[in-house]
Amino acid sequence: MTITPTKTLQIGHLINGEMTSGDNFRDHRDPGRLTEVVARLAVGTPADVDRAVEAAHQAYLSWRTVAPAERAGKLLEAAEVLSGSAEELAPLLVREHGGVLWEAQTDFALGAGVLQHTASLTEQFFVPVEYDDETSFIRIEKMARGVVAAIVPWNMPIVLTMMKLAPALATGNTLVLKPSPFASAALTLALQRMAEKFPAGVINVVHGDGDVGQALTSHRLVRKIGFTGGTETAKHVVKAAADTIKNVTLELGGNDPAIVLDDADIEATLDRMLAGIFTRSGQICFAVKRIYVPREMHDRFVEAMIARVQDYVVGHGLTEGVNFGPLATQAQYEKVRGFIESTRATGAEVVELGRLAEGLDAADGYYVLPHIVADVEHGSEIAGCEQFGTIIPVTAYDDEEQVIAWANDSEYGLGSSVWTSDPERGLAMASRIEAGSTFINTHSFESLDLRMPFGGIKQSGLGREFGEAGLAAYAEDHAIRLLK
Ligand code: NAD
Repeated sequence: MTITPTKTLQIGHLINGEMTSGDNFRDHRDPGRLTEVVARLAVGTPADVDRAVEAAHQAYLSWRTVAPAERAGKLLEAAEVLSGSAEELAPLLVREHGGVLWEAQTDFALGAGVLQHTASLTEQFFVPVEYDDETSFIRIEKMARGVVAAIVPWNMPIVLTMMKLAPALATGNTLVLKPSPFASAALTLALQRMAEKFPAGVINVVHGDGDVGQALTSHRLVRKIGFTGGTETAKHVVKAAADTIKNVTLELGGNDPAIVLDDADIEATLDRMLAGIFTRSGQICFAVKRIYVPREMHDRFVEAMIARVQDYVVGHGLTEGVNFGPLATQAQYEKVRGFIESTRATGAEVVELGRLAEGLDAADGYYVLPHIVADVEHGSEIAGCEQFGTIIPVTAYDDEEQVIAWANDSEYGLGSSVWTSDPERGLAMASRIEAGSTFINTHSFESLDLRMPFGGIKQSGLGREFGEAGLAAYAEDHAIRLLK
């Protein structure tokens, strides 16, 4: 029998319209099939960053002069390219980051939606505000900032990139992206195709680790940083940005509370809430990370949850019928297993549920079954951390004042939700929660609406993405006054 060697996909940097790479590559393995190399990824250096930023700066000098309507038109063309790439590239994304196929397809669809929505707002955004009176004529224009550095994580790399690329390019800036080393192949191939719709140098990509991120966030020609990732990494980004006073938008970690009120229907709540807990194996910034249930409902709620989750099947994202895939990285796997062990060590009842897909061995990848922890005390590690994985704590509360205080007792403030059969009560509770977003009777992908600014407060972030607030973050106001 002859074995034909298959050529491994090789991913380089995208600089000034060219795919380039040095000699330094790293194999990236499928987190669900650790024996399989998915792609060889270029590992960049500060010199690559410098070339990319210089190219982006040159491109910016003319891209900023293109009419907003024309820039919006290019975004629409790019959206078509992105949607058209999903069928081919979503399976590659699954093999890179461990999600299931519909999650990767959702990533592409949301990304295209962000491009289209941003394009629809662009012309109006650039209409100047004018005041004309006896003494003066004032015009407040919008102005591009310059080169934008975008840095994204691995969990939903397509839409998180588009949330930076779309407002950056719409407002006349150019982009240098550093993807996560754990999800860069499908993203880079999609961006390579999208970049063909723009002048060379408008979209650039440099791969690498923290040193590349550091070189990018401290580069003198970078005027704006759009960062999504962990809160600890963001502290390095802010420090790097400080020397040259760069504008930053930060979308960081969360510990989203879901508050179930005593009038909520348990089954109807679980119909929707479970999607917000275990989708993407819990690795979503605004996933439900802690659940609060009235004390008298607690046991019934947990039993109903267990009854559903015990049927879950965990497996490779390209296997049909699995509820969720492996965790994305070894570090994630070790962190989540660590939370399971440390929670068990406190004496808490940690219930492991579900099963692995037929024929799968746990050691094939970073697989962790769903875990529910009942009767968790407020203040315990598992209720206060960003677990970013398949373990969910449930805490019983006694009254509304207590649950609001507990929900707000966090350094995070990204998403949150209230579950009730009374919309007025839900709205009143929502206003009291310290978070960037509060959803009522929903808390998952379906909760997002591009008209709602997205972002966090406290250590969950700085600034907002989506819609007009998202565009404004990438533009400067330029105030002009003629004294009569
Ligand atoms: P991470 O912070 O480890 O990495 C994010 C990105 O920063 C990666 O591209 C990484 O290579 C880069 N990086 C690392 N060191 C850097 C440095 N010194 N300077 C500049 N860049 C550097 O995060 P992760 O593990 O990839 O992603 C998980 C985290 O992202 C979670 O905390 C999650 O909550 C957060 N997240 C937030 C949102 C949101 O919108 N709020 C969305 C998705 C993920």
